[in-house]
Amino acid sequence: MPKGILIVVSAPAGCGKDTILEQALRKNDNLYYSVSATSRAMRPGETDGVSYWFKTREQFEDMIKGGELLEYTEYCGNYYGTPKKAVTDMLEAGKDVVLKIEIEGAANVKKMFPGCTMVFILPPSFAELDRRLHKRGTETEDVIRKRLETARKELKFAEHYDYLVTNAALEDAVDDFLAIVRAEKCRKDNCPGVIEGLLSE
Ligand code: 5GP
Repeated sequence: MPKGILIVVSAPAGCGKDTILEQALRKNDNLYYSVSATSRAMRPGETDGVSYWFKTREQFEDMIKGGELLEYTEYCGNYYGTPKKAVTDMLEAGKDVVLKIEIEGAANVKKMFPGCTMVFILPPSFAELDRRLHKRGTETEDVIRKRLETARKELKFAEHYDYLVTNAALEDAVDDFLAIVRAEKCRKDNCPGVIEGLLSE
């Protein structure tokens, strides 16, 4: 069984990455979404073990000490990290694993897995991102301003990624993401032994 590929996805808040990934996961059943651990509070609508594994800071620090995390970071005052075992088990089982993580964690994963595929999701424009953040109606002006500033900073790291997906129209962005996965599966480096196998017939 060929091993799965590792796909790292980053995007500033408000770019629609959750929705893109939800739809992509529904359309490609070989994709496995890595549920991160976090010490942030659960938001309305979130479920433990689905959105995140919700932990106290102490529990999270125990996971760090126990070597249970592939990578972790502190973002906006909360810990976020990728549980190692699920990712390595799924890759071994041939699943294509998706990590939805911020830029620092992404850079750390790239060092550990140089062959991973890095995808950055972009808003069509800052004006549109501003509009989407206001439309949510959940945050104050000050929070929105900070999110836009952070988005600008994060966007500067997009040039270190392999692929850019612009979320102007949701369906196109989902198709683009799935096309990237499909193309990456055909990359020669991701098909070890295929040529030799054929030649040995
Ligand atoms: P939120 O609190 O809005 O769900 O996530 C905040 C940021 O943390 C997002 O950019 C998200 O992608 C990132 N994030 C979520 N899980 C992880 C993780 O396991 N590791 C890292 N490094 N970042 C994460």
